Amino acid sequence: MHSDVRVRFAPSPTGMLHLGGLRMALYDYIYARQQGGTFILRIEDTDQTRFVEGAFENVVETLAAMGIDYDEGPGREGDCGPYVQSQRLPIYRKYIDQLVASGHAYPCFCSKERIESVRERQRAAKQDPRYDGLCRSLDPAQAQRRIDEGEEYVVRLAMPQQHTFVFYDKIRGKVEIDAAQVDDQVILKSDGFPTYHLAVVVDDHLMRISHVFRGEEWLPSAPKHIFLYEALGWKPPIWVHMPLILSPEKGKLSKRHGDFSVSAFRDKGYLREALVNFVALLGWHPKGDEEIFGLERMVKEFSFKRVNKAGAVFDITKLDWMNGQYLRSLPLDNICDEARPFFEAAGLPTDGERYIKAVAEARGRVSRLEQIADEARVFFEAPRFAAAAREALAADTAPTVLQWWLAHLDTDNRDAVNDLVKRGIEETGVKGKRFYFPVRLALYGSPHGPDIPALIDVLGIEEARRRFQLALDINK
Ligand code: GLU
Repeated sequence: MHSDVRVRFAPSPTGMLHLGGLRMALYDYIYARQQGGTFILRIEDTDQTRFVEGAFENVVETLAAMGIDYDEGPGREGDCGPYVQSQRLPIYRKYIDQLVASGHAYPCFCSKERIESVRERQRAAKQDPRYDGLCRSLDPAQAQRRIDEGEEYVVRLAMPQQHTFVFYDKIRGKVEIDAAQVDDQVILKSDGFPTYHLAVVVDDHLMRISHVFRGEEWLPSAPKHIFLYEALGWKPPIWVHMPLILSPEKGKLSKRHGDFSVSAFRDKGYLREALVNFVALLGWHPKGDEEIFGLERMVKEFSFKRVNKAGAVFDITKLDWMNGQYLRSLPLDNICDEARPFFEAAGLPTDGERYIKAVAEARGRVSRLEQIADEARVFFEAPRFAAAAREALAADTAPTVLQWWLAHLDTDNRDAVNDLVKRGIEETGVKGKRFYFPVRLALYGSPHGPDIPALIDVLGIEEARRRFQLALDINK
């Protein structure tokens, strides 16, 4: 199946890819795959002052790690490249000149200081700060002379002063924005780079983008884009403004709420499957109550009708819950691979049977891999007992129980150990907690935790016997 649906993810390399970016890339990907279309990655690096070293590589690596492959983009050239905006400057220049020639844009020579003082005056008069249009009325020939003489300038859009922009958004339906709210947007900066507004329109057109998924924060910019499409005689794409991601207090999600880069979440031990599942649900939901589903199902079931208009609150407890679900349900091999760096960082071994068994046991007890090495440490290092535990191990019938195990433990097979537990209760005459607690305390360091057959299975006969002996010797 091949269709004309072409969507793009267009991050600016101003930082590491964050969960909001991942969500947008995911919706692009899902929609492209569902429609048999093409998914494009375009790097929007026209704001050179905000460029962050390594951000581009991070986007590419993170998308690959999340299983979100693009069809065209840097390193996968199609027929619309280059896919990095800083490599497309002559293309933008051509359209900027065209806009100036047709009177839809004009050069502006105002200094930063002048613009600031205009804004200050407007703020004092309780008006929205905006450019006052001084250079709009310059004679074009005179403006050209000033440019030729090397004077610094920008190019601004000559936005209509009285107009209502009407357009359709796939999620919100008909949207109307009054021109009074729209500034004479700069489209070419004095450094020769276009701004987002010009570059996005030119590139979406030249790259034959059919649907633009972007954050709701771009909705107020749509009139500038419509104006550009009309001025250039092009047809706009279908806009899909996705709901904002909100903080738990329902405000803007910001750095203050933590590091939202996908890498930071990976470092804490959130799994790819959980992150993808979680961000997909920020603003969209398939039919039914189920919350756990993978990419394939999203591709099958995604529909615009089920995208919310209201912002989606970022709920970390839900992500933790989801991650826990995936930690338990994904193949053990996967989790062993994912857990390895965390064990290594904690100085624990990652080879041999005990590693696999320890991961199998501990994955059910944590919600993030960051916690798994701590949880599993006791399987590699004998517990250290505090005073209360020492007392408990020496008190009452505890030594009898421990002695019994030392004398009879000859298997680490779970069923056989289960039989041993029953036999031990019979033979020692010690029941319930008084039997279980000292055993678990000796093997695991806590009276509560995995059941005895599981503990002995992970530790093996030798290590279990060693721990019974240590517990018996504790007060010697
Ligand atoms: N470069 C813009 C951003 O990173 C993309 C907006 C869009 O998708 O049009 O927010």
